[in-house]
Amino acid sequence: MKDTIEILHKKILSGEIMIKDVVGEYVARAKADTFNIFREVFTDIDAQIAHAESLLKEGKATPMTGIPVAIKDNILFAGHAAGAASKILEGYVASYDATAVSQLKVAGAIIIGRTNMDEFAMGSSTENSAYGVVQNPLDPTRVSGGSSGGSAAAIAAELAVVTLGSDTGGSIRQPAAFCGAVGLFPTYGSVSRHGLMALGSSLDCIGPFAHTVTDAETLYNTIATRDPLDSTSVEQRQVSKIKKRLAIPKGIFANGGCDKDIQENFASMVEKLKMEGYTVEEVELAHFADSLAVYYILMPAEASSNLARFDGIRYATRVGTGSIGELYKQTRGTLFGKEARRRILLGTYVLSHGYYDAYYNKAVALRSVIRTEIETVLKTYDAIITPTTPTTAFKIGEKASDPVAMYLSDLFTVPANIAQHPALSVPSGVDASGLPIGFQLIGERFGESTLFAIGKTIETLR
Ligand code: GLN
Repeated sequence: MKDTIEILHKKILSGEIMIKDVVGEYVARAKADTFNIFREVFTDIDAQIAHAESLLKEGKATPMTGIPVAIKDNILFAGHAAGAASKILEGYVASYDATAVSQLKVAGAIIIGRTNMDEFAMGSSTENSAYGVVQNPLDPTRVSGGSSGGSAAAIAAELAVVTLGSDTGGSIRQPAAFCGAVGLFPTYGSVSRHGLMALGSSLDCIGPFAHTVTDAETLYNTIATRDPLDSTSVEQRQVSKIKKRLAIPKGIFANGGCDKDIQENFASMVEKLKMEGYTVEEVELAHFADSLAVYYILMPAEASSNLARFDGIRYATRVGTGSIGELYKQTRGTLFGKEARRRILLGTYVLSHGYYDAYYNKAVALRSVIRTEIETVLKTYDAIITPTTPTTAFKIGEKASDPVAMYLSDLFTVPANIAQHPALSVPSGVDASGLPIGFQLIGERFGESTLFAIGKTIETLR
């Protein structure tokens, strides 16, 4: 039986286990990690433990009190290094807490370390980390997915009870699917981006990884808050009740890129949901599949602008001497990895005079079409359902030299980011090699509770 927040919380409250013992156990396991999951296991956690113990003593323990949590290396935790797995940030120490981290601290959670990831969250396999790939604990010859590969693998290897990742185009849901974890991309704006290193500012959101939907819900409720420090942060809204109606985008398997085992698993889960009283129908979402093209214009455009600050002067270790141009060139050319440089170039190109209208503006226009289509469908249905990924965890190296093949693994996940709608990935079984498969539910904005409710049903059906 895996440790969940639910189980540990009960044991902590009853005194069956001591917070320091639980945390000690997880820290020891995390230190012994052989999959390259952690960038760092923190050694200075005594103050966090003392805080959690005092909450408990005063009768103010929350479900998160004393729970070992790991955070992705692009989320700031004051006084601790944070590097987005990039050489360019080596030696950087966060001077303030991300709002999600402050929320965890207030709740008495114990942040035990920071997890490995694709550099600046660019990737689908963690192979773009400057510090090496994260092996999938379920099969170390395979990737853990990305970009939050470390946070997903930490769940599979049970090195933390729950973890935080960030999702710009699937970086929570895809690795969750590859590692058999639950992963949520929350409604954009419901979790503050303050203290999250930006990749694509209009797409990014911090979200939870967990063993169970209930745990993902608990962690989400802990971190979600309206935050004046993030201008895109929004107040939660109540949404309509569950209708037991699910929509499948027509033709999602038409391009032939989705594994047979995944299609079969999806179809069988749909049948089981029907037995539970759900109506499942195909709906026209004409531009759903265009999301990927839109994403690979908007994300690099935003990334190229966000990463401009890492120039060796405002941020980053400085490399080189000479003219300022030379210094920028050497710093950015040496310390950014290949994928980061590729996206900066792509983004600069689509934003440049003469191409702006042809690419960037078209993508912005198509984004609103996609968003309207999704919103319209979600007036009648609780969720749009798809597999989370077209394949299960692939071999390390298999797609590393083919960026387009790598980008295709985001096919089903990017529409939620484009529309800024929440999406949940729930494990729904395994393929012929025993590798986990994820089932994705895209809900209406602020419709997390509906997604959690359906997710909990799926957990009982797989
Ligand atoms: N795999 C996607 C990319 O490479 C998603 C990244 C993310 O969500 N951070 O852009």
